[in-house]
Amino acid sequence: MSKSARSRATEPVRLTDPVTRLAGVGERIAAQLARRGVYQVADLLWHLPQRYEDRGTVRPLASVLPGDSVLIEVEIVETRVLRHGKARQVALGQDDSGHITLWQFGRFGELLQTGRRYLLFGEVRVGAQGLEMAQPERVQSAALESILPVYPSTEGVTQARWRALIAEALTVALHELDELLPTTGLPPPLQIGALAALQRLHAPTRALGVPDPTDPARVRLAVEELMAQVVAVRAQRSRWVRQSAPVFREDSAFWQRLLADLPFSPTAAQSRVLAEILADLRQPHPMLRLVQGDVGSGKTLVAVGAALHAIDAGYQVALMAPTALLAEQHARNFARWLTPLCVPVHLLSGQMTAGTRRDVLAALQAATPAIVIGTHALFQEAVQFARLGLIIIDEQHRFGVHQRLALSDKGALPQGEGLRPHQLVMTATPIPRTLAMSAYADLAVSIIDELPPGRRPIKTTLLRADRREALIERISAVCRAGRQAYWVCPLIDASTQIEAEAAESTAARLTEALPHLRIGLVHGRMSAAQKQTVMAQFQAHALDVLVATTVIEVGVDVPNASLMMIENADRLGLAQLHQLRGRVGRGSTDSYCVLLYDEPLSDRAKARLALMRETQDGFVLAEADLAQRGPGEVLGTRQTGLAKLKVADLVRDADWVPLARALADQWVAENHPGIPALLQRWVGVGQQYGQV
Ligand code: ADP
Ligand code: MG
Repeated sequence: MSKSARSRATEPVRLTDPVTRLAGVGERIAAQLARRGVYQVADLLWHLPQRYEDRGTVRPLASVLPGDSVLIEVEIVETRVLRHGKARQVALGQDDSGHITLWQFGRFGELLQTGRRYLLFGEVRVGAQGLEMAQPERVQSAALESILPVYPSTEGVTQARWRALIAEALTVALHELDELLPTTGLPPPLQIGALAALQRLHAPTRALGVPDPTDPARVRLAVEELMAQVVAVRAQRSRWVRQSAPVFREDSAFWQRLLADLPFSPTAAQSRVLAEILADLRQPHPMLRLVQGDVGSGKTLVAVGAALHAIDAGYQVALMAPTALLAEQHARNFARWLTPLCVPVHLLSGQMTAGTRRDVLAALQAATPAIVIGTHALFQEAVQFARLGLIIIDEQHRFGVHQRLALSDKGALPQGEGLRPHQLVMTATPIPRTLAMSAYADLAVSIIDELPPGRRPIKTTLLRADRREALIERISAVCRAGRQAYWVCPLIDASTQIEAEAAESTAARLTEALPHLRIGLVHGRMSAAQKQTVMAQFQAHALDVLVATTVIEVGVDVPNASLMMIENADRLGLAQLHQLRGRVGRGSTDSYCVLLYDEPLSDRAKARLALMRETQDGFVLAEADLAQRGPGEVLGTRQTGLAKLKVADLVRDADWVPLARALADQWVAENHPGIPALLQRWVGVGQQYGQV
């Protein structure tokens, strides 16, 4: 052994050391721990139990619920030895409050004996005869047993191993763990130090009982973590807003002319939100603002207003849409409104000719004020903006936080002005309050909380999928009245291939049943050009019915469409159903949405569909979605930074977000010296929240 290795071996283990410094942890175990996000000794501390086994308290059978792992004390009243099958013995046990069937498997172990009492530990299930426990563990005396934590595990790491490693980490923490939050800054129930909280959760005592998810110790740690998350995004925001950005004027002649030509006037909400944006654009620092507005609330017009102010100031505007289909639709709308004003609108897409593309790129490089619209490819390719003043991102929820950051890099103006473009982010999926406060804490938020006048509520009904033929007459009537219909065929977890096939067969069936109607089809396997052609036909009313996959989910705007059928509605999230349904109800006639479902429906699915029928409020639906499916689903799986909270849970801990946010604000305001340690502990500095 070399000298340095020897001295290292005798040095005390530190929290920042790799787990391999702990006794008995070799490369193999280390690799398995890494799968649970445990690399350093400190990481073990935040690996909290998912539940506890209380082997110290005897539970009356009447109080036991299926799924509980409990200690019971029963007298055996009957036993039967089985000769075949896997079970060896079945016994009936009872206490003062009830009965339970006990199964013993395998060839070893003592059999239970009639007439004797036993202390048994195991998980309770419901079988044909009521409560059952398989392979119960015999316990000698309740007094000798304690509350054992059960950890989320991974192959190859036993519970005993987790317990031993975490106990070691706690010993290290005893000397080393910093108390970052003075407990006096917390409300009374949470006035617990971090170390005490960890001890409570990893090594609960009989006196305090089994910690539940609302235990102040867990909440205390969750608040610290949420606070760290908010500090991280705030820090990012403050780095961002310290930079310089072009200053736009308060008024724009282009915008005034557009308003004069518009067949309608902006709603009060649209005007207010635009005013909030324009106030930002008059500052010499980059705007970072999120506009939330339910489907159909008219976000596009607000974006156009902001864009025209940039154009007036001589700058270029980039609009990023989540799909090629939407980029094309935006390009069409912008062109319709802006071409009369002689403002150039360019679409950068995969299918334009090399010549056109060269011209557009040259114009951008030549600093000509213009609006350029595209998908994320806009920022990945070698597009050089000579004077980019404003970036607009539509349907933000489709992009991850990371993409947003990558995008702002693109914003440096290359010709030495040192200015960053302003950023406007628009989303139609209402972001539940708690998420907005943490994940989006770096954004100022404006809400368009009003729909344009004359919109009628969409009537939503449910229909069992095997009765879908009943819809044929309905479609026929709607189209006879000069309206159009969508039939959406989303398949969950299927390939685009299978989804496309389902849409194709639906289109074929409808064509056969409704020979007098013009039926179109759009799905993800078609080329962008094909999709665009079909969409343009539907928009121009050259098609009566559009059969589509979820490619039409966001943004598509055909006000004459008034009927929508959605297949597999029971398997879609509420936010997604709301987006889809938002494709109708855009005109001034009554609109209908039929949600098709398959029997049998789970209670949860029933409740979800009922909520869809009852409300059209995107915020209500988003909150319900968040509660049921968690933030990863609501914001899209790409928002991985969020899903990786160690202790906190944005749903369970929603009520604590305001406290965490207030603490974060306070720390940021006083530039608290503990910030680096806080970020180090919870966020992992320099990873996702690194450079802006
Ligand atoms: P979203 O917020 O879902 O992106 P859009 O911007 O696509 O909504 O607008 C939906 C429809 O409402 C479009 O046809 C648009 O022209 C129309 N619209 C927008 N603002 C108004 C308004 N103030 N009055 C009437 N119609 C409006
Ligand atoms: Mg839109």
